[in-house]
Amino acid sequence: MKKCCYPGSFDPITNGHVEIAIRASKLFDKVVILVADNSQKRYTFTLEERVGMVKETFKDYKNIEVCSTDSLVIEKAKQMGCMCLVRGLRAISDYEYEFSVNATNTFINNEIDTIYFMASTKYSFLSSSTVKELYKFNQDISTLVPKCVLDTWKNKKD
Ligand code: ADP
Repeated sequence: MKKCCYPGSFDPITNGHVEIAIRASKLFDKVVILVADNSQKRYTFTLEERVGMVKETFKDYKNIEVCSTDSLVIEKAKQMGCMCLVRGLRAISDYEYEFSVNATNTFINNEIDTIYFMASTKYSFLSSSTVKELYKFNQDISTLVPKCVLDTWKNKKD
């Protein structure tokens, strides 16, 4: 079985992430979306909320699973039997970041390669941070995120 791992913060998941996961699901037998929890990062949503939103988004997709880790992504991917990682590229700035992440990952394990999907033009401007900024200033983000993200935000206390 050809299994890949799509890691990220998903804080929160956006339609840009959704598109990449669906494209990957057409090429692999299984896509595991790996929600990373890094103690050095400050998230808007808790790990439970981030995982919950991703699970809800893909509940009807049989070959997309959701998992989380507070450890090294590349090690978790190996443990889960994934043959490669999937990442998305929007702009040159993503390339620079991904270049160093990939170098680190291959230093740890050079058997698991990373495959990059170019963002669609429609979502090339879209990031979790953009969505958070727009939400903060009361803009309509309903075409940018799955509905469950809006629901989670509305029910959030703080
Ligand atoms: P991280 O904190 O690990 O960068 P993100 O959740 O921000 O996690 O992103 C996970 C992956 O999804 C990254 O490879 C990122 O480049 C990609 N990505 C994010 N938004 C988009 C988008 N609109 N189109 C394509 N790829 C995207």
